[in-house]
Amino acid sequence: MPNDCQRDFCAFCGSTPPSSRRLIAGPGVAICETCVTSAAQILGDTSIEGQPKSMGPIWNQMSDKEILQHLPEISQVSLKVEEQLRVWVRVARERKIAWAQIGAALGITRQSAWERFKAHL
Ligand SMILES: [Zn+2]
Repeated sequence: MPNDCQRDFCAFCGSTPPSSRRLIAGPGVAICETCVTSAAQILGDTSIEGQPKSMGPIWNQMSDKEILQHLPEISQVSLKVEEQLRVWVRVARERKIAWAQIGAALGITRQSAWERFKAHL
């Protein structure tokens, strides 16, 4: 069986790093070493201390063009996360976990869970 649980792309930059590079996995998403390094640099940047911690939603600082460029990136991540969810539900079913339990975990009914994922088993 192929590695169905692979998280082969970085949800932050969208890249698929070479197999020699690692991804850090989260719930349905992953982040690459490059993005982790960038985040650590931002968090470690003491020059921004003293500035307000929040400047509101990020889109307040973006142009219309930047927002439009961001939409397909968000959509792609959403599709990948949905794909991961289907894989995890399939694994749950392979372990004979009941649809009622899967539904409860997702906050939906057994019937809704079955209808949503039955085609992907
Ligand atoms: Zn990345």
